[in-house]
Amino acid sequence: MPDRRHLLLIGGGHAHVEVLRQFGEAPLPGWRVTLLTREAHSPYSGMLPGVIAGLYRPAQALIDITALAARCGVGLVLDRATGIDPAARRVRRADGADLAWDLLSIDTGATPDTSTPGAAEHALPLKPIDALLPRLQALADGRSVAVVGGGAAGFEVALALRRRAPVALVAGASGLLPGFPEALRQRAARALAQRGVTLVAGRNVAAVAPGALHFVDAPTLRAAALVWATGAAAAPWLAETGLSGTGLARDARGFLVVDECLRARPDIFAAGDVASFPGGLPKAGVFAVRQGPVLAANLRAVAAGQAPRPYVPQTDYLRLLSLGDGRALGTRNGLVFGGRWVWWLKDRIDRRFIARYQ
Ligand SMILES: Cc1cc2nc3c(=O)[nH]c(=O)nc-3n(C[C@H](O)[C@H](O)[C@H](O)COP(=O)(O)OP(=O)(O)OC[C@H]3O[C@@H](n4cnc5c(N)ncnc54)[C@H](O)[C@@H]3O)c2cc1C
Repeated sequence: MPDRRHLLLIGGGHAHVEVLRQFGEAPLPGWRVTLLTREAHSPYSGMLPGVIAGLYRPAQALIDITALAARCGVGLVLDRATGIDPAARRVRRADGADLAWDLLSIDTGATPDTSTPGAAEHALPLKPIDALLPRLQALADGRSVAVVGGGAAGFEVALALRRRAPVALVAGASGLLPGFPEALRQRAARALAQRGVTLVAGRNVAAVAPGALHFVDAPTLRAAALVWATGAAAAPWLAETGLSGTGLARDARGFLVVDECLRARPDIFAAGDVASFPGGLPKAGVFAVRQGPVLAANLRAVAAGQAPRPYVPQTDYLRLLSLGDGRALGTRNGLVFGGRWVWWLKDRIDRRFIARYQ
């Protein structure tokens, strides 16, 4: 059917797997759908610390994109997008080929901010996660590790790695778990101390060298392996795409500006970490997950010539942090809690999420 219009989805992130699932249940009449994504398995980051800690097998935390796309009647291209030409409505791929689209949706996530000198060359970034897992597994047991980044990901990964190596967590100037309630931050610091993770808080890393973190006003910290888990930055391919005169805008950090309906332009949607939502949202998977059903409904509406509806972010959400040993800490609405039952809850939520797509 040569006259069918084309919806192109870039990135197999948390929002797009839901779009695929919904289009599998009810196809888009008159449209063919293609997913262009980097790899055949999309990792679910919520379970990654559990994989590192040995609580899950890697396969348990992966969504088989090839199988999901086939089941949902969506075409699949395994490649990397390297640029968008919004005027010509084409997306460039790493292998040099182009893909044309009538409607585009982007869910390619973010990348760790490795702007500190030497970080990109000498530290192991947490993303892409598929590249991280084999490299982490190659770390010889017992060698010392320094994890840089005091947010949720750095905290969980430091505790997960502690099961196999001496670990220092470098939390930077904003300290451990900025943005979390004070009571949770204190419990988290105690959890690190009880498990033998050294916390280095209060100063940012100034430069990275092989096996060494340099500070302006403190002694160099040495470790056999350096893991980089600092805040999210926009992926270089997006920053390098020339957008002037295309009706698309990026925010100060390089993320794609969208409106309340997740639209960057009438024919381009974006969701998850790659999108800059009005008023700003934390770069957290929970938002990408919640945007999935709205994105699916809006793509369906626009494909049928109807108006999209706004996405309304939740004002507070349940945040759960694995301690790497079958316990977890959690917070919601200012309440702070912890223990084995919190891990049980996190495990249940994560397994239920991934089962929808496996
Ligand atoms: C260790 C760790 C633990 C975390 N734990 C939590 C947690 O417990 N709760 C929480 O809310 N958040 C957590 N986060 C944050 C969470 O991972 C992100 O916010 C979330 O993954 C964002 O989802 P997304 O859909 O935007 O993109 P992603 O999940 O990053 O998916 C992006 C997809 O796009 C593909 N892609 C990327 N670039 C291209 C390209 N150029 N071309 C084609 N395809 C591309 C990738 O292969 C991937 O499939 C954690 C992060 C880490 C690193």
